[in-house]
Amino acid sequence: MPVDFCPSVPRLDLNALQQAISDSTVAIVAVNFLGYGEDLGAIAQLCADRQITLIDDSAQSYPPASSYGAEADFSILSFGRGKPINLTGGGALLVRKDHMAELDRGLECYPLKHLRAGRVWQIRRAIFNALLQNRICYGLLERSPFLHLGETRLKPMAPIYRLELNRDLVLSGAQCLQELAVQQRIYVKELLRLEALEWKLINVPASGGKASNTGDLSVLRFAFLAPSRTIRDQAVCALNDRGIGANDFYGKPVARIPGVEDLVRRGGAPNAEDFAARLLTLPAHEGVESQDVAAVVGVLGNLITGETPGDGARCHGPEIP
Ligand SMILES: *Cc1c(COP(=O)(O)O)cnc(C)c1O
Repeated sequence: MPVDFCPSVPRLDLNALQQAISDSTVAIVAVNFLGYGEDLGAIAQLCADRQITLIDDSAQSYPPASSYGAEADFSILSFGRGKPINLTGGGALLVRKDHMAELDRGLECYPLKHLRAGRVWQIRRAIFNALLQNRICYGLLERSPFLHLGETRLKPMAPIYRLELNRDLVLSGAQCLQELAVQQRIYVKELLRLEALEWKLINVPASGGKASNTGDLSVLRFAFLAPSRTIRDQAVCALNDRGIGANDFYGKPVARIPGVEDLVRRGGAPNAEDFAARLLTLPAHEGVESQDVAAVVGVLGNLITGETPGDGARCHGPEIP
């Protein structure tokens, strides 16, 4: 049986999780969802009595929450496209000190590669950044059915290798996130006004458990729960018409992601279904300007109060010139 979410939050139902543990459970992966973290302390307790490894999947949030409390045995970071520190590829496995010795031996079998910030890398990064800044362009891309931009599907894992990362690139990425957090806090004040209109902002920056002590955590995208799927869908259309790259993120619970369906046992996860049906995510990167935030507040507010709904007819694919 899949383990469901708690109602209206991207967090595992701990009772269901406990019941799902069996003799063949080797690890629990606690996923930080756009800055909204799991209760790592509670899951660590479930793991401790049973010798289960706890992995903190912090691909969507930097720094990882478990770097404060050391609840997880391992944390993983992604440096891929669209992640907090974007080096267009690679990642990091953070290992708790008590596992260092075993891991040093275990990792040596994987070949070592170098990630050079060479010309190809610079060009890819320049294109990506140009897309971020040019909302019209991104809006068109987003509506293009050929590119499957943003669609998630399971890909078979490539062979594992170790990557020699450029330390300065990682550190400068982390530095940018600190500055972004300051900008986001200003925007959040505006976005929170929507909570009076049935929109719920899920990932207020710095809501990630213990990590909130730092006070300057950024979020990868702003995530709202709409009052209904219909209003969510209308919001995605209306915002994309204005060049604001809104989306429904994964669009469905993990058990229904293409490629995953056949790997998991069937069973209901109604809270996760409901969450996926109402989730709306918005860009939160440094290219977002205050007039974009004002537009978001206007569009989402009007969808509830019924004023000038977006032109739905234009939402079904790109216009053919
Ligand atoms: C992107 C992502 C990953 C995978 O990261 P890659 O670097 O693309 O392999 C894992 N977990 C979560 C939650 C992610 O968002």
